[in-house]
Amino acid sequence: MTTSVLTVLFAAFLVGSLLLRVWLASRQIRHVATHRHSVPAAFQATVSLPAHQRAADYTLAKLRLGLLTTAFGAAVLLGWTLLGGLDALNGRLLAHARPALGDLGYQLSLLAAFALITGLIDLPFEAWTTFRLEQRHGFNHTTPGLWLADQAKGVLVGALLGLPIAALILWLMGTAGAAWWLWAWAVWVVFNLLVLVLYPTVIAPLFNKFQPLEDGALKARVESLMARCGFAAKGLFVMDGSRRSAHANAYFTGFGAAKRVVFFDTLLSKLSPPEVEAVLAHELGHFKHRHVTKRIVAMFALSLAGFALLGWLSQQVWFYAGLGVRPSLDAPNDALALLLFLLVGPVFSFFVTPLFAGLSRRHEFEADAYACAQTSARDLGGALLKLYEDNASTLTPDRLYVRFYYSHPPASERLAAMGALA
Ligand SMILES: [Zn+2]
Repeated sequence: MTTSVLTVLFAAFLVGSLLLRVWLASRQIRHVATHRHSVPAAFQATVSLPAHQRAADYTLAKLRLGLLTTAFGAAVLLGWTLLGGLDALNGRLLAHARPALGDLGYQLSLLAAFALITGLIDLPFEAWTTFRLEQRHGFNHTTPGLWLADQAKGVLVGALLGLPIAALILWLMGTAGAAWWLWAWAVWVVFNLLVLVLYPTVIAPLFNKFQPLEDGALKARVESLMARCGFAAKGLFVMDGSRRSAHANAYFTGFGAAKRVVFFDTLLSKLSPPEVEAVLAHELGHFKHRHVTKRIVAMFALSLAGFALLGWLSQQVWFYAGLGVRPSLDAPNDALALLLFLLVGPVFSFFVTPLFAGLSRRHEFEADAYACAQTSARDLGGALLKLYEDNASTLTPDRLYVRFYYSHPPASERLAAMGALA
């Protein structure tokens, strides 16, 4: 490959992915807007017209903001790469940080500076999403003070976790020889497993309060369901999700014996105990079918391929030059290669989105079927309808948009599959 071939290829993929995104979003916008005036026939008994229109308006607002951030993101990406942003930042740090901090310090400062600038660029969009989009549609519960504290904690946790692993990988890139990528991948795997273990007990409590589920009818139901399914977990917790948002959820975290079930308080306030039980049975279905393990294994296999590719690309001058960066002759280019790879990779991998979305939707159907067998299709159907309505998810998505992006099947397909539409 030559420099100009990579430049042309990158530009073509960037434009192609941009066009595809805009085309899919405009299809979805048209479809949702067209069906805004009436509740689909299958839901007329269960969903009111105001709720249906509220979902349509929220979906349309999210899509329009999405179009804006997509266009802006592409411009920023061009700015970093072909227009020379990363090259300029790198030049400055080579001149000023490297003499003071040495090779590793300079490379870490490049990664940190890039992360900080990217975070600052994204900040207005995140603020707009929370305080305009979510606020206008009645979902936001967070205050500017809490939001700022979350951002600060996020940066701190990111630095505490990110800097050591980045330093270790950069050190391996510089010292472990041609097979560095294999070592780096092993380190990456261990790091990810560590984060999975630390997340429920150390990281999540920095942002939310977790209280044991109180004794009572619901707890008895949940425990009997878990015993029936042969599932052991360390604890049942309620999280104060309502402090930040009205969106409701339930999830599992942790590994082996440290597994926890977490219910958002917003979920418990909206669903009846049998419905909560059905939602939990759905989550248990993911475990019974080993979806979580499969996802983790797939992620590790993909990251192995990614590290191998990076190992090769980082040795090619055209990889840097074709993306608008001049590699150094006398300083390590590892941090530069890492950043370019993370920046440009998603432009190419965007086109396999439907593959993973399709797999995820299949898993959702399997988990639904498990929940129906363990509890009742009526309760799960009732819970899903409430959740789709409360989260203002549209009941009338565009078919192609669903096939491309949706990790969860639309309500109509899930209810039809569990035979609960009648
Ligand atoms: Zn699921």
